[in-house]
Amino acid sequence: MISPLYVMLFGLIAFGLLPAMAEKWESFEPSWAIKQGGEIYEFMPFKQSELMPEICIMKPAPNLIDYYDYQDSIWYGIAVWEEGLNEMSEMFQPDKGYSWQLKILEFAYEEHVTKEVSDYIQCNIFIVFEPFDKEKENTLGITAFDYANSRHKYAVITIFATQPAPAVLYLDDDPETWDTQVDILPITPNTMRQIIGHEMGHGLGLGHYYAGMNNPSRSIMEFSMSIWSEDNYLPPQYLDYYALITKYGTDGFKVWEYPVQQQWFIPPHPELHT
Ligand SMILES: [Zn+2]
Repeated sequence: MISPLYVMLFGLIAFGLLPAMAEKWESFEPSWAIKQGGEIYEFMPFKQSELMPEICIMKPAPNLIDYYDYQDSIWYGIAVWEEGLNEMSEMFQPDKGYSWQLKILEFAYEEHVTKEVSDYIQCNIFIVFEPFDKEKENTLGITAFDYANSRHKYAVITIFATQPAPAVLYLDDDPETWDTQVDILPITPNTMRQIIGHEMGHGLGLGHYYAGMNNPSRSIMEFSMSIWSEDNYLPPQYLDYYALITKYGTDGFKVWEYPVQQQWFIPPHPELHT
């Protein structure tokens, strides 16, 4: 049984509307490595295909959360990828040039609530906000993809912005009985930042990191966190930037190769980059 304080995290990747290729991809099971306590880092079967991917924040319903309490955290969760990748490319090829720019757009709730994905053809990654969903009990965020044949290829990140609070036990007058009351509360800005950072990793083409016998804090793509802890923030790590550079090359988003052949890699030994 999972403690309410540490309800597990990130939903996996929902492959929404897929290309045949992704079906093949799903059959991949890194279990051989995991069973042996091995460390493995998965990739998603696509790359962002534009020089400057556009990240579209579809602002939440006003009665869900107050967007402006979270705006800095959300922007940070996105921008931290761009900054870290630029820094790493600077290290690898200071003279050759590179571009890891992400463009962030925001749409007011009133502007998007009745619209379809096809109304926002410029968006490569959508970020949308939903309330806690009982059906997806342990999920804080989900990233789904449509990389089917249409020209508009995109990812949709859904953030479940309210979650059950840590359970509080109330003793009745009758000591024989007690009730559990669980409130559904907005997640903290800190948790928001963490979820956005993780789901953005998926949106850019990363799968999950399995630590095996190694330290789970080597990667933001480890798939669990504690919701209500205030010190739970782990930004993307060296290994996460390394993974994206393995995928796109050191020059940034401008290289487009499809399909992506590599499904996973074994992370280099930690001592190589600490
Ligand atoms: Zn995930």
